[in-house]
Amino acid sequence: MKVVFSEAQRRHDPTFFLSSGAQRPNPEVPRRCDILLEAALGLGLAQVAPPDTGLAPVAAVHTPDYIHFLRRIYERWQHIEGASAEVIPNIHPDRREGAYPASAVGQAGYHMADTACPISAETYEAALASAHTAFHAAQLVLGGERAAYALCRPPGHHAFADLAGGFCYFNNSGIAAQALRARHERVAILDVDLHHGNGTQGLFYGRRDVYTVSIHADPIRFYPFFWGHADERGEGEGLGYNLNLPLARKTGDQGFLAALDRALEHIAAFTPGALVVALGLDAFEGDPFGGLSVTTPGFAAIAGRIAGLGLPMVIVQEGGYVCDELGANLASFLKRFAI
Ligand SMILES: [Zn+2]
Repeated sequence: MKVVFSEAQRRHDPTFFLSSGAQRPNPEVPRRCDILLEAALGLGLAQVAPPDTGLAPVAAVHTPDYIHFLRRIYERWQHIEGASAEVIPNIHPDRREGAYPASAVGQAGYHMADTACPISAETYEAALASAHTAFHAAQLVLGGERAAYALCRPPGHHAFADLAGGFCYFNNSGIAAQALRARHERVAILDVDLHHGNGTQGLFYGRRDVYTVSIHADPIRFYPFFWGHADERGEGEGLGYNLNLPLARKTGDQGFLAALDRALEHIAAFTPGALVVALGLDAFEGDPFGGLSVTTPGFAAIAGRIAGLGLPMVIVQEGGYVCDELGANLASFLKRFAI
């Protein structure tokens, strides 16, 4: 199996982060790449760089206004007297029914769901490289490889068609799934990150060709709060093609695997031609976010059951933050596919 990785992804180095109103160091750091890449290479995966495929992969799931915003906002922000170095919104539209503003500050509120997606000088290039990473992994699988690992950073599953959020700018898992649609009539996305894949759900909520499934800490008291509940099942012709499996805080391997079995049954019944795994490692018991209690061997068990589907698979890196076991957790998951 190959690990797709772009060096440009290291250049995004955000500093701002708010947690329960308190400013703390941003945990989505470039060092995550070093740890994850070392673990992947340690398993014998061959490293490949994604080609620059321009804007087409992101334009397939994101709006033109949003792409333009991400591309230009940092430079525009620098012209605001007294503004912060990084772009951080300080106003949001009420349920997004208001007008689309011309102001940089207004657009930041419109296109950024929260303060956990600060935009600095290198953010756009890194996010685009991350999207290219996912897109290229999908191309490898379309080319006949059984599985490919996209080491994406920044992550993507909280990004909607026109909205950044939660460390995410372009929705890499969604981009991979859309790319796989070129050959497969039906594609499933299985999101095992600690947090609900709200952006991914949003991209495909009205569609029945991409089945979105997410297992995550119950959002009733956890990010992203407003999405991820069990009664969100899709809309229009997409009704029935979104499945959320929220888990009680601190759920361990047994509870996670029980939810996974349910997810896999539904995915198998959908009969997809290919699968995208949105691989967050932050469900780990020792992750700084501390939401669930999956163990290091638990990730191997998760991988084993997913492999049982026998589908061509793009594994897209989502969350998972710096802790002593981050690399071991990735290795535990990937070794099932490493041959
Ligand atoms: Zn997460």
